[in-house]
Amino acid sequence: MALPPSGLGDTVAESYKMYLGGKWVEAESGKRTDVLNPATNTTIASVPEAGPVEAKNAIAVAAAAVDTPEWRDMDPSRRGSILSKIASIIREQRDALALLETQNNGKTIKEAKGDMNYVARTFDYYAGLADKIEGTTIPVPGARLNYTLREPLGVTVHIAPWNYPLLLACRSVAPALAAGNTVILKPASITPVTALKLGEVAEKAGLPAGVLQVVTGSGSVLGKALASDPRVDAVAFTGSADTGREIMKYAAPNVTPVTLELGGKSPNIVFADADVKAASRGVVTGIFSNAGQMCWAGSRLLVHGSIHETLLSEVSRMASALKVGNGSDDKTEMGPVASRSQMERVMKYVETGKKEGATLVTGGERAAEGELAKGNFVKPTIFDGVALDATIAREEIFGPVLTVFKFKDFDDAMRIANHTDFGLFSGVWTNSLVTAHTAAARIKAGMVSINEYPITFPQTPFGGYKDSGIGYEQGLAAVASYTRVKNVSVNIAPPKKAK
Ligand code: NAD
Repeated sequence: MALPPSGLGDTVAESYKMYLGGKWVEAESGKRTDVLNPATNTTIASVPEAGPVEAKNAIAVAAAAVDTPEWRDMDPSRRGSILSKIASIIREQRDALALLETQNNGKTIKEAKGDMNYVARTFDYYAGLADKIEGTTIPVPGARLNYTLREPLGVTVHIAPWNYPLLLACRSVAPALAAGNTVILKPASITPVTALKLGEVAEKAGLPAGVLQVVTGSGSVLGKALASDPRVDAVAFTGSADTGREIMKYAAPNVTPVTLELGGKSPNIVFADADVKAASRGVVTGIFSNAGQMCWAGSRLLVHGSIHETLLSEVSRMASALKVGNGSDDKTEMGPVASRSQMERVMKYVETGKKEGATLVTGGERAAEGELAKGNFVKPTIFDGVALDATIAREEIFGPVLTVFKFKDFDDAMRIANHTDFGLFSGVWTNSLVTAHTAAARIKAGMVSINEYPITFPQTPFGGYKDSGIGYEQGLAAVASYTRVKNVSVNIAPPKKAK
């Protein structure tokens, strides 16, 4: 059933169903939730609002599917070829999927196309790994053969955030499938559309019914019901640190393993010998891409006192020149914040920054001229002279707000960089190998990027220190996250002859 046109001019609102047990269904309650375009706050879609009933049904289906010969005994290279097919369908549908992502999340169409390319590369990477998940043989005393089997965990629940809706969902879904698990995906309630499309893609690629299910609903009801069910063998969660703590509580009674990819307050450190132009571009990309809604945002710029003025004036010039607007216009360089409530949260932090005495360099207000007033737009904002313990220095704002700190020397830079509860990403700008590698060793974060910001690949591990999380996504590390090791010992001593 199609809903009436949204009035946006670039889309017609669509009514989606959920993908449960290989069928497209409504919630049993019949309840639905509207999905908005954050550039206009018009309705672009509606999705079923699932709750505990659907969680139970989806888990029962996933638990049965994990043990069907069709999936359990599937040749791993066949699993790989299904993932490869998913990658190629995503490439074929890239532009349409990207437009949906832009309309739902607000990001620019260029960013959304980049996300879809990344999704396809992720499926390709794990497609290649599906038949290379190996055990080991272990030398032990006596006449014994001792080996390990690397087995899938079973039913895996994936709870995804709204900032990279499809990309972050697939980052954990692809390795879980490659390893032979079954998957229940719950996208964020405000950005469910492309995850539902993934259900269609998987069906078309030939994934057996029930191996991947996509259910839509609120985190506190559906997410909780999924994460706290004893039949679930693992929860892969990407989202805020506060929700991550809740997920651990739900999982604890059942001793369910969790992977937590949480927030950040990452330092982007520019040393005196850095290429200032290149660093300025990296600083701007690192905080204003995706309207600053990035776990790995370089939200704290640490700059050596000797280049503070030069760097800051270049970064500020570039930030204030960014074209803010509707992401579906290909001239737009920064889209809206993903929801009205997130915009209000960001603006509250901006007001706190002003009150706590930081110096506003640029921005500091909504972008609300003409049509922009209907959407959730915030101007690229920079605060200088931020106190180390100010609220905006410590808390994750998750919006286009940069905080700037001056440092005196290397040790001072490391002190400021590590003065945070988070430890996800970090950037180092320098022409000295010694400075670069010493900083890489001293920064307490899961990722360090030297002379570019930000950067990651499907084949490199992604994980945080401290409140930024537990465990890893991406790379070979994610295969370990979605498998377990069984040790088998075989007595191969020849039977003793009777005397
Ligand atoms: P969020 O924690 O509000 O929500 C994330 C997901 O959890 C959503 O699907 C939501 O519906 C669900 N959820 C919310 N409450 C729940 C509950 N009580 N039980 C179960 N599920 C629940 O996070 P968000 O606002 O969607 O995303 C922004 C946060 O995610 C930021 O903190 C950001 O840094 C973090 N993030 C981390 C990474 C990473 O890889 N480390 C990547 C992207 C985003």
